[in-house]
Amino acid sequence: MNGFDVIIIGGGPAGCAMALDLNLRGYEVALCDQAKFPRDKVCGEFISPGADPILEQLGVLDAIEALSPQRLKGVAISSYESQELEIDYPVSRETDLRPSSLSVPRCQLDALFLERVQNAGVKIFQQHKVTGFVFDQDCVVGVQGWDENKTPFTLKAKLVVDAGGRNALSLKKFSLKRQAQGRSRIAFAAHWQGVEELNDYCHMHVSQPGYTGISAVGKDRANVVLVVDASAFRDETVETFYHRVLMKNSRRRKILLNGERLEPVRSVESLGFGVKPVSCGGLVLVGDAMGFIDPFTGEGIYLSLRSSQIAAEVIHAGFQKSDFSREFLAGYNKKRHEEFSGKFMLSRALQWLIYNKYFCDAVMKSLSVNQNLAETLAGVIGDIRPVREIVAGGFLAPLFVGCFSKNRRQ
Ligand SMILES: Cc1cc2nc3c(=O)[nH]c(=O)nc-3n(C[C@H](O)[C@H](O)[C@H](O)COP(=O)(O)OP(=O)(O)OC[C@H]3O[C@@H](n4cnc5c(N)ncnc54)[C@H](O)[C@@H]3O)c2cc1C
Repeated sequence: MNGFDVIIIGGGPAGCAMALDLNLRGYEVALCDQAKFPRDKVCGEFISPGADPILEQLGVLDAIEALSPQRLKGVAISSYESQELEIDYPVSRETDLRPSSLSVPRCQLDALFLERVQNAGVKIFQQHKVTGFVFDQDCVVGVQGWDENKTPFTLKAKLVVDAGGRNALSLKKFSLKRQAQGRSRIAFAAHWQGVEELNDYCHMHVSQPGYTGISAVGKDRANVVLVVDASAFRDETVETFYHRVLMKNSRRRKILLNGERLEPVRSVESLGFGVKPVSCGGLVLVGDAMGFIDPFTGEGIYLSLRSSQIAAEVIHAGFQKSDFSREFLAGYNKKRHEEFSGKFMLSRALQWLIYNKYFCDAVMKSLSVNQNLAETLAGVIGDIRPVREIVAGGFLAPLFVGCFSKNRRQ
């Protein structure tokens, strides 16, 4: 079948959000994914509360709620084995209620999302790996690839959206990845049962050689993700390393002691990177394909959904003007940068600080004595408060002051 308005590569949150958004606007959309769903993904499985309104607009929130997902009221953070500090999301100015974040296994979430896309009338091609682009002069006008039987396929469209995640085709084809930011990291994840009651918080425990995120993802089921410096992992099996590092930290040990891992440990490289602008027309990148930040602040899914929303606006405007040139589509990069750059800076600063015990303790101390600051930070990280509230509220100095005081030890 040929001649779609838009072809989307990738059926993760970014690709599905884009497909639903464009479908709601009346466009003929096709979506290709190399995987057969349900497919799993290494992830903290924690979706910032800021994603709720987007999921509602896209018509998927009800279906997610029907799974009776775990709802988390905030984060419980421990710095280098100190007591946990529980931070709730701040009261919403719109509803006067405290929002919560969803905690749903990716395997379920992504399959449900894709099913919604299919039911909406988008043409889905599962097990279709896209390996190249079709060009008309300097504009992308389609994709080529192989299906599950290794039969080649070609699909044409006025525009292609690459939502292929951190290893998206465009990043390789056009050498778009900027030099990786920070040290090389590796993430390990598995679901557990029988762990200690988790109190509706995502438990973040920071200590050498990295951090863990532990949260309930259903009845008697917890997702336990460990992210470490890649250099720390050598000469051991994935399982031995994962258990050894988890149990080395007394806070994690307390939670996991009577628990049992339910599946093999999955691992994935987890290094943040930026992305250069696309050098041709007819192609838009969304989600992780547009850049990836260390998952410490757990915002990737929100950012993927939101980047698709911003891009869909620009694509819609492009259809109205019949303009899919590189220059026109660059409007999306500009809007995305305006909205996200402050947040990326804050996330990077926090990620940098947590890898130093003294800095991490200092930030935790600032948060523990200033509830307003702690909740505002949770609101910004949870994508329900703009990052400018940290600056405008005069919170930057209180947040980081301990780290840079004259008498700092290291
Ligand atoms: C360790 C870790 C923990 C994380 N924890 C969290 C968290 O708690 N909360 C959070 O919000 N985010 C978290 N993230 C980030 C989150 O997982 C990503 O931001 C999110 O999955 C990005 O969605 P996406 O749709 O852009 O890409 P993906 O979810 O990666 O989907 C991409 C899809 O594209 C398909 N694809 C790729 N290439 C091709 C091709 N050539 N042809 C056809 N199909 C293709 C793939 O099969 C895949 O289905 C975490 C990430 C890591 C690494």
